[in-house]
Amino acid sequence: MTRYNVALLPGDGVGPEVLDQGIRVLDAAGEIFGVELEYERLESGATRWQRTGTAISDGEFELARASDAMYMGAIGLPEARHPDGREVSGDVMFGLRFGLDLYAGVRPVRTYAGVSSPLVNGAGIDYLVVRENIEGIFASRNAGTNVRDEVVTDTIVTTRTGTEKVMRKAFELAATRSRVDPTRHPKVTCVDKSNVLATYAFFRKIFGEIAAEHPDIDSEGVYVDAMTLYQVQRPQSFDVVVAENLAGDIISDLSSATVGGLGMAPTGDIGDDHAMFQPAHGTAPDIAGQGIANPAATILSGGMLLHWLGQQRSDDALLRAGDAVDAAVAETLANGSAATRDLGGTATTETAGQAVIAALRAAAE
Ligand code: ATP
Repeated sequence: MTRYNVALLPGDGVGPEVLDQGIRVLDAAGEIFGVELEYERLESGATRWQRTGTAISDGEFELARASDAMYMGAIGLPEARHPDGREVSGDVMFGLRFGLDLYAGVRPVRTYAGVSSPLVNGAGIDYLVVRENIEGIFASRNAGTNVRDEVVTDTIVTTRTGTEKVMRKAFELAATRSRVDPTRHPKVTCVDKSNVLATYAFFRKIFGEIAAEHPDIDSEGVYVDAMTLYQVQRPQSFDVVVAENLAGDIISDLSSATVGGLGMAPTGDIGDDHAMFQPAHGTAPDIAGQGIANPAATILSGGMLLHWLGQQRSDDALLRAGDAVDAAVAETLANGSAATRDLGGTATTETAGQAVIAALRAAAE
């Protein structure tokens, strides 16, 4: 049996609560499919910063780097901020994204039976947002200037290498999606503001270059303001959406609202050699400690972890385990057993996790 080492970053607020269920589900899937997962638990986060003055130590960063994959709850507390107002959660999230070149923020957006969409045309949404993760205005983090508290600047950074990498990832994911579901015609939509800024025009130009290498995959460009309309008016028209960092940050939260909210939105921050999986939501301090947070996004992120690791290591058992986790979540949302309060149900974080595990075990029998 192959063993894999997963670095756990439970974080703050509801982070440890939802990650606990995610780990239980991974363990159950591992047991069923013959995969052994070992964990290294890291304390990184806002609570650690409050205690020690550092959100992630060099040793923890190295343990994360050495792991086969990283699995995070949620990091940050509103009051844990640097003197300039920035939340310390960025020290961990951006530190790992930038430090390990996790250049693609992959966010599946899909509706599940049993989970209603606030859109009148919200049935059958299924697309993937691929957010460029480490360039754009975010690359200026810690590098902006403040002259006499009077003139303040941040700089947008766009590189050819980084843009080509995220574009290739988007086209690769579109090809994979159409292989898994041959009824789907692959398409990549580029989202930016290329009609206004030179950096975004460059982003769109590289998109065109990579699109030309994939004549079998449709491509289109959409400005980010129009994109927010289309996500509400015709979300079914998207397959893979590749977006500049800031644009991706905004449209991915909107996309999760159309399919049941942040509790339903998993993410993977993916590079060529490393990847970190976590729910899109924050630490939700307003409901922390009550045991009512929806663990679906975290459990689905665990499924993404299994898929990613399975592809990296060509391990079929991991791929089947990932499929089984997805199916178990879908089943328990459809029958209501994993419907937490945010979804109109009465399940707790724990009973929702237990329901997913029961569905996994039942499907394996
Ligand atoms: P961040 O800036 O760290 O991303 P945020 O300020 O966007 O965080 P969240 O912590 O994600 O905010 O919470 C936003 C709202 O969504 C809150 O009302 C919170 O209770 C709710 N929420 C977030 N995660 C969940 C969850 N897993 N289950 C139920 N409700 C959630």
